[in-house]
Amino acid sequence: MSDDRIRPEDEWPLPPVWMWACKECAGLYRTMKRIQDETEEARLTCGPGIDFDPMDSAIGTQIALAQHMAATHPDQLPDWEAACAGCTGHRDAVARDTGSSPRAASATHFGNEHRARHVFAPPSIVGLY
Ligand SMILES: [Zn+2]
Ligand SMILES: [Zn+2]
Repeated sequence: MSDDRIRPEDEWPLPPVWMWACKECAGLYRTMKRIQDETEEARLTCGPGIDFDPMDSAIGTQIALAQHMAATHPDQLPDWEAACAGCTGHRDAVARDTGSSPRAASATHFGNEHRARHVFAPPSIVGLY
């Protein structure tokens, strides 16, 4: 990339205060950022064309963090975002599966994980997985 400017949709948001108050959030967040930095450093040192994160560990740390937040902090998660296709899809799934069926529970859980990603991931990658 020759353009150093960061597009707003690629910007990593600053985590909210309540995440730092939780040991697990803070730990998972730091691990995620450290792996990101290491991957970026390797990319800058060795040049493009090589996958420096073949195990997708950066994605793994994001998923671990979102899972923890969905399970532990459901009340702190942001509301659905009208402009986000992922939010729309999850919201529809949650609305469709009401009640106490396992399907409803998993729709709620995956919806929460998605909303958790909005807290710490740039808009451009929130909906990727
Ligand atoms: Zn936490
Ligand atoms: Zn969304």
